[in-house]
Amino acid sequence: MNKGAAPLMSVRDLSIGFRTKAGLARAVKGISFDIARGEILGLVGESGCGKTVTALAMMGLLPGNSQVTGVLEFDLEDIVKMNEEEVRKLRGDEISMVFQEPLTSLNPLWKVGRQIDENLQMHTDLDRKARFARVVELINDVGLPDPERLYHKYPHELSGGMRQRIAIAIAIACRPKLIITDEPTTALDVTIQAQILELLKKINDETGSSVIFISHNLDLVREICSSVCVMYAGFIVEKSPVEVLFSRPDHPYTIGLMKAIPRRESKGKKLTDIPGKVPSINDRLPGCPFEPRCSYAFERCRAEIPRFVSLSDDHYSMCFLAGESRSNTPRLKP
Ligand code: SF4
Repeated sequence: MNKGAAPLMSVRDLSIGFRTKAGLARAVKGISFDIARGEILGLVGESGCGKTVTALAMMGLLPGNSQVTGVLEFDLEDIVKMNEEEVRKLRGDEISMVFQEPLTSLNPLWKVGRQIDENLQMHTDLDRKARFARVVELINDVGLPDPERLYHKYPHELSGGMRQRIAIAIAIACRPKLIITDEPTTALDVTIQAQILELLKKINDETGSSVIFISHNLDLVREICSSVCVMYAGFIVEKSPVEVLFSRPDHPYTIGLMKAIPRRESKGKKLTDIPGKVPSINDRLPGCPFEPRCSYAFERCRAEIPRFVSLSDDHYSMCFLAGESRSNTPRLKP
């Protein structure tokens, strides 16, 4: 098969659980989606929805008590079936990850230049001189001034925004096909946040790397992504191109997330929170995972898990009332 025609990553019926004394705690429950080459895909949802666990599975970084089933096909090779060594080769070279807080992902005892160099040393044949030149080039590419001087700085000598740029330089060092970013701007102020988004867009434009952008913030997702998967309690509950999601959101959870976005015109008004909280991975709900928080829930929602319904070629929603007006649906008594 022509690799260029296939999606870069194809996730099929992926489930991830963790063996605990109380049994298997299920964090991800049979999710499926594709990432096209060069695409920026958003994975959105509150904390505890399974976004980060999904990303860690793609990086082969799940802990030893994890249990993974399904298919995680990257460039036509199934990561779930790879051995340690094969996944290690992929990581940092073909797939890389940028974490939320660079202060914890960077080594505080190593100069930042050495940390970028380490990735080149592991995955390329470049000699020391060529690697130094490449590190300087990378520091420059992520928009930092005076790269030769910065090479010799420790992480604590840089601002939060600069550290995140260094983390991105490490991630792109080997020109990966896929960059996973997990809440990369959450720890940064709004101005720096915008600059980091610009940088990710520029990298995507210039290198053609695909990006998975994990966030709880739908506004940022709208800014940078072309398509979105909304995750809730380990399920993907809605999937669509970004403009469709914002013009015709279907799932009550997505609609709730949108109502919770602060807007200029809503200044001074109370934001609408989604009542309740995300179920824990140990909870075993027999029905729709969103039922306890859903203002449209009816009897069937408590007993049965809804299927993923296709609303159009590329828009799906996991709700019994997908595509229907929910205005006349009576709420179940709690
Ligand atoms: Fe709400 Fe029922 Fe739809 Fe779940 S299936 S989102 S509980 S209406």
